Amino acid sequence: MSSQIKFFEQVREFSEEAAKYLDAPKDVLKQILQNNTIIHIRFPIKKDDGTIQVIEAWRSQHSHHRLPCKGGIRFSHLADEDEVEALAALMSYKCAVVDVPFGGAKGAVKIDPKDFTENELERICRRLTYELFQRGFIGAEIDVPAPDVNTSGREMAWIADTYRTLSHDINSLACVTGKPRDHGGIAGRVEATGLGVAYGIQEILNTNSICKQYKIEPGVKAKTIAIQGFGNVGYHSAKFLSEMGAKVVAIGEYEGIITNPEGIDIDALAEHRKQSGSIKHFSGAEFSEDREAILYFEADILIPAALESQITSENYDKVKAKIIAEAANGPLTADATKKLFKKGYLIIPDIYLNAGGVTVSYFEWVKNISHIRFGRIDKRFEKSNFNNLVSLFTESTGAKVSHDLINKFSKDGDESALVASGLEETMITSFHQIKTILEEHDFKIDLKTAAYISALRKIVSSYKYAGIFP
Ligand code: NAD
Repeated sequence: MSSQIKFFEQVREFSEEAAKYLDAPKDVLKQILQNNTIIHIRFPIKKDDGTIQVIEAWRSQHSHHRLPCKGGIRFSHLADEDEVEALAALMSYKCAVVDVPFGGAKGAVKIDPKDFTENELERICRRLTYELFQRGFIGAEIDVPAPDVNTSGREMAWIADTYRTLSHDINSLACVTGKPRDHGGIAGRVEATGLGVAYGIQEILNTNSICKQYKIEPGVKAKTIAIQGFGNVGYHSAKFLSEMGAKVVAIGEYEGIITNPEGIDIDALAEHRKQSGSIKHFSGAEFSEDREAILYFEADILIPAALESQITSENYDKVKAKIIAEAANGPLTADATKKLFKKGYLIIPDIYLNAGGVTVSYFEWVKNISHIRFGRIDKRFEKSNFNNLVSLFTESTGAKVSHDLINKFSKDGDESALVASGLEETMITSFHQIKTILEEHDFKIDLKTAAYISALRKIVSSYKYAGIFP
C-alpha cells in the first residue's frame, strides 16, 4: 500500500460519488458522510518482564442512525486514525447494504501481536475494555466490537468477560460478537465472512444480466481463482469456493505466492501453514518470493483478502483477472476502481461482499439478547410436524416416499444450518437490491456505486423522522 493514500478519503470519494445519484437533502447527506466520534486512547500495560509499555488505540463510531454501533477491533502496527475512521464508515454502509440494523464503528490497537505473549495480549484486551467502558464506548445497546485482522474469538472472550465484571449488565455477552461458541458465540461466525464471499460471488455469476453485461461465462464452477491473504477471510473464501467447484490456482501471503494450475488443496495448505507457520515448502504447489505477483496473476477471479489499498492508479493496469472480488476492506482505491470499470472489469464491492461477518455477528447479538439459542424451541416441533405430514400423506394415498427424500426435507434446523441459510438469504437479497439499482441506471454505473447508493438510500430514510435536538 502506498503510504500517501488516505483510506478515509477513498471511502469519502466512493460515498460522495454515490450521493450525487440521491434525491436527498444535502445537509442530511453531509451528516451521514462524516464521522461522528473518534477516541484516541493511551494506556499502560505491564509486560511479563515487569517493564511498562504504553499502548495506543482508537475507537471510532461513524454513525448513530441505528444502535448499537458495530465493527471489529484489529491489532496492527500499521493502524492509525485515518484507517480506523475509514473502516468505521465502511461498517455503516456495509450494515445498511445487508439490512443489519446497526451504525458503523471500528477499533484498532497499534501493536504487532507477535511482539507480545498471550498473557500480555490478555492484559491489553482487558485494559482496553476498561478504557472503552469508562468512556461509554462499549455495551450491547451502545457499541459492539468483533474480531478483525489479528484478533479472534479469544480476544472477544477476554473483552466480554471484563465487560461483564464491570457492568453487571444482563446483556453483557452481547457487548461483543465473534466469541467462541462455549462463551456465548454462535455456530458459523468464524467462517461467516468467507462463506458470505462465496455465496456473493456464486449469486453474481449465476445472474445472467451481469454475466452478459461484463461478458463473463456464467457460473462459479471451474473458474480459476487467485487469492491474496490466507487468513480467516482468505482461507474460508478459498475453502467454500473450492467446494462450489472453483479452482484456487494461486495464493499469496507475506512470504510470497504459491501456485498450482490444477488447483491447491486448501485444507492441506491450511494444515501445512499451521504446522510450519508459512505457505513456503508446501508440497502441493510451486513457490515464488514475488509477493506482489498475486495481484497480477492470470486467473478468472482475483480475491484480495488481506489489507486495503492494494490496487491503485499505479498498478491497476497490471491486473489480469477480469473479476475482482473485494473480500478485504478497501483493497482497491477509488481511482483504480473507476479505471478498471472503464476497462470492463467486474469489481464486486467490499461493502456487499464481506458483509457475511457482520451479518452473522448480528445473529449472535440477537441470540445473546434473546438469551436462547436458535432452534431450541422449534427444532423438534417442526421435525415432528414434518413426520406427521409424511405419515398422513402415505397413509391416505398409499404412496411410498423414499427415505432419501424424507431425509432431504427433514434436515435438522440446528444452529449452524440456520445461520448458513440466513447468511445465504442475506447475500442473495442484498445483491438483488444492488442489481435493481444497476438496472435503474442502465448498467452505466459500477457495482460499487450501486452498493453505496443502496446503503445511502436506507440511511437517508432512517433520518426522515430524526429529531435534531437544540
Ligand atoms: P487475518 O489477519 O486473519 O488475515 C489476513 C492475512 O493476510 C494474514 O494471513 C496476513 O499474513 C496476510 N497479509 C497481510 N498483508 C499481506 C500482503 N501484503 N500480501 C499478502 N498477504 C498479506 O485477517 P482477516 O480477518 O482475514 O481480514 C482480512 C481482510 O478482511 C481485512 O481487510 C479485514 O478488515 C477484512 N474483513 C474481515 C472480516 C472478518 O470477519 N474477519 C470481516 C469483514 C472484512
